[in-house]
Amino acid sequence: MASFSLLLSPITAKASLPTSRFSVHVSPSLRIPSSHPTIRVSASIKSVHKASASSPVKAAAPPPHPLPFRVGHGFDLHRLEPGLPLIIGGIDIPHDRGCEAHSDGDVLLHCVVDAILGALGLPDIGQIFPDNDPKWRGAKSSVFIKEAVKLMHEAGYEMGNLDATLILQKPKISPHKEAIRNNLCNLLGADSSAVNIKAKTHEKVDSLGENRSIAAHTVVLLMKKK
Ligand SMILES: [Zn+2]
Repeated sequence: MASFSLLLSPITAKASLPTSRFSVHVSPSLRIPSSHPTIRVSASIKSVHKASASSPVKAAAPPPHPLPFRVGHGFDLHRLEPGLPLIIGGIDIPHDRGCEAHSDGDVLLHCVVDAILGALGLPDIGQIFPDNDPKWRGAKSSVFIKEAVKLMHEAGYEMGNLDATLILQKPKISPHKEAIRNNLCNLLGADSSAVNIKAKTHEKVDSLGENRSIAAHTVVLLMKKK
């Protein structure tokens, strides 16, 4: 990590490094009174990651600012079609239909991946694992979770806690909740007290409420490793 310091003027400070250029704009509330002695501010810079078509995961870099905590949100939705398996959190759920998807269509694991990637400031699951790449055709979503967890550790973070909400009209998730939670904990390497799974219906309205789709939201808190 390139570390440097700059002198912050009351309005705007600019600095250039051999390989990058940036500027710092100071909001009015943060402006330093002209009578105030010069203040030295330290900052850290990391090059911004760029997704590469050949190896998007390798190209992903740790987040630019080593914050002690990082929050991420994930959302996913899949169409339900008859004759397909319904897999939620890596668990086969008996139902008359399942998710239409390029991979195994695991709506919960997909949105957990997006929440972790989001917390790390990385591109979303569709960019890291493009659905036009035959490599990911029919892939188990556990593969995506393992990659996201690897990126999290490489960036110097560990799972704080995770809260997920599944939205579907049918079937009832309560009989499967513990199995889903245990499997997710194993994949994340997290204690069960750190992972919470909730489920709700969509009051029989719209595609979610008419058993035509399934959705999930996830929020994660990542903590900087000591
Ligand atoms: Zn998905």
